[in-house]
Amino acid sequence: MGESNWAGNHLFEASRILRPRTVDEVRQLVADAPKVKALGTRHSFNDVADFDGGVLIDLADVDAPLEIDADASTVTVGAAVRYGDFIPALHEAGFALENLASLPHCSVAGSVATATHGSGQRVRNLAAAMSGIELVTADGGLRRFTREQDPDVFPGLAVGLGALGVVTRLTLDLVPTFSVRQDAFVEIPWSVLLSEFDAIQADGYSVSLFTPWLGDSAGMVLLKRRAEPGEALPELAGFHGGIPMEAPPRDNFTEWGVSGPWHERLPHFRLDAVPSVGEELQSEYLVPIADAAAALAEIRAMGESLAPALFVSEIRTVAGDDLWLSPSHGGDRVCIHFTWQPKPEAVAALLPRIEERLAPFGARPHWGKLFHGGPWLAERYPEMPAFRTLAERLDPTGTFRSPFVSRHVFDE
Ligand SMILES: Cc1cc2nc3c(=O)[nH]c(=O)nc-3n(C[C@H](O)[C@H](O)[C@H](O)COP(=O)(O)OP(=O)(O)OC[C@H]3O[C@@H](n4cnc5c(N)ncnc54)[C@H](O)[C@@H]3O)c2cc1C
Repeated sequence: MGESNWAGNHLFEASRILRPRTVDEVRQLVADAPKVKALGTRHSFNDVADFDGGVLIDLADVDAPLEIDADASTVTVGAAVRYGDFIPALHEAGFALENLASLPHCSVAGSVATATHGSGQRVRNLAAAMSGIELVTADGGLRRFTREQDPDVFPGLAVGLGALGVVTRLTLDLVPTFSVRQDAFVEIPWSVLLSEFDAIQADGYSVSLFTPWLGDSAGMVLLKRRAEPGEALPELAGFHGGIPMEAPPRDNFTEWGVSGPWHERLPHFRLDAVPSVGEELQSEYLVPIADAAAALAEIRAMGESLAPALFVSEIRTVAGDDLWLSPSHGGDRVCIHFTWQPKPEAVAALLPRIEERLAPFGARPHWGKLFHGGPWLAERYPEMPAFRTLAERLDPTGTFRSPFVSRHVFDE
């Protein structure tokens, strides 16, 4: 077919990508095709959005209005809309999403389906904001579920990996709009970072550490502090032994050093620029926050062997949730992310070694990034049996059971 994901490291093995214009067309396509998978904005780094020999459905042409319900503090959006396309309208209406990922370029359905997250010890991932979902199931039927009316299955529906159906609309919780100021600090010693890890996380609404793992100083801490709308937060002279960094390392970053609306500060990268490095691969593992120092020490010990394949690592946190396939199911997590150079063989060789080091902590990989995996993966999700039952109920014919889902969910 010749189409690939954003990173260009995965060539889709599906036979076709179809772009229906209405939900009825989506229903017909699903009812007619024996193997179907929904495709978002293709930002995943593995085959989670692919279906060997099947049909991929891209809903970008399905017209779905933005519906803000001010009384309920919710917004309902079309599945394929990118965060960056509607978050300014939320702010205009006096609302915000609790958190955003590092980039606003991804679709809502794709982000929710893979438990995409930002950073913040008290802030959950993007899937946790979902309070309602509409999806086309294998028989072409359109089903709606809400958190209130379907409590038995709702925690299984958000992080669905595309295995439950084609999502057409989602309802998300809103909070009152707020401001954020982001600042960066360098030269925080590793010893301070590890001993003051909790305090460092608690000092920001969202905190990210960018590190190459080498040397005595940990790297760059990107601190995002929350403020009331219009409130100007003061500059900090230092942060846990780190000194302020004047300007972002690249011009694709959102604005530093001045307070502004949440949607222009929570993502690291601007919608009108290529996010992150551009030509790269990514992996990420989530570890219980109580094990943060020990897990970070394990990866730091690999620093020299990671260096030839690594651009940079990002260490973040995410609050726990109850979503069945969320890597932060059951408690707060530290997220150890790797932005790799485009060296697939070198990365593939490193992943099992990283997974071995993080195994004692029960690390769960990000569903949309590169990992090696194995039978241990499903075992790390206590609700995996419930998810399998739900998938079999909504998809008795295996219409959405792609190779990725067979491998990692059904252990086939
Ligand atoms: C530069 C870059 C930065 C990133 N930063 C972050 C970050 O800060 N935090 C983080 O957690 N992740 C991050 N990611 C990973 C990214 O958020 C996830 O891979 C996310 O899934 C991408 O969404 P997408 O719309 O591209 O989905 P795709 O990759 O297209 O699809 C992902 C999954 O969603 C399913 N899906 C998509 N649409 C539907 C639908 N309508 N119905 C049912 N299922 C659907 C697909 O079937 C597939 O299983 C980053 C990726 C890149 C490239």
